[in-house]
Amino acid sequence: MPEQQVSPEQLKALQEKIKQMSPEELKEFQKKQCVFCQIVAGKIQSRKIFEDENVLAILDINPANPGHILLLTKEHYSIMPQLPDDEIAHVFMAAKSLSNSMLRGIEVQGTNIIVANGVAAGQRAQHFMAHIIPRKENDGINFVLPQNSMQQAEIEAVGNKLIAALGGTPKEAEKESKGINLDEISKILGAR
Ligand SMILES: [Zn+2]
Repeated sequence: MPEQQVSPEQLKALQEKIKQMSPEELKEFQKKQCVFCQIVAGKIQSRKIFEDENVLAILDINPANPGHILLLTKEHYSIMPQLPDDEIAHVFMAAKSLSNSMLRGIEVQGTNIIVANGVAAGQRAQHFMAHIIPRKENDGINFVLPQNSMQQAEIEAVGNKLIAALGGTPKEAEKESKGINLDEISKILGAR
């Protein structure tokens, strides 16, 4: 199917228009473009599982496993940092009861609760959501996280950056590693 062509001029005009929008206008514009806002508004059909004043839980139409739920905020937020604290608290309380409903209602053995926060993390939709995925042993889903080895000093350094970002006081860096350095030992042994 031929894609709708947008000329460079049209694109530039649109970018200019977006730049001049107030935050409220920008949000309205984003909402109009957002499939999940259309679902929240009832303009696109979905299989609703749960709803309250803040969130809407629907079944994923392309589930990782049967019962895979998308938990959406009713308000349009692109990424997690935009959510007020009480809303994020509410999202995870809802995630907990939806997860429990899976354990009780569809005889699964576990659940994964996933938020892809940003494109680098695999976020595809522009609307904040949490995935709640029912799990059974040997169900073919594998979240294999690499287990890299890292020097203690590097672990300390990254930990200190995170503590500082949270407003805490980083630990004083150790002057010298007290651990046994295998590289140094093999160098000494090799030199003999
Ligand atoms: Zn939206």
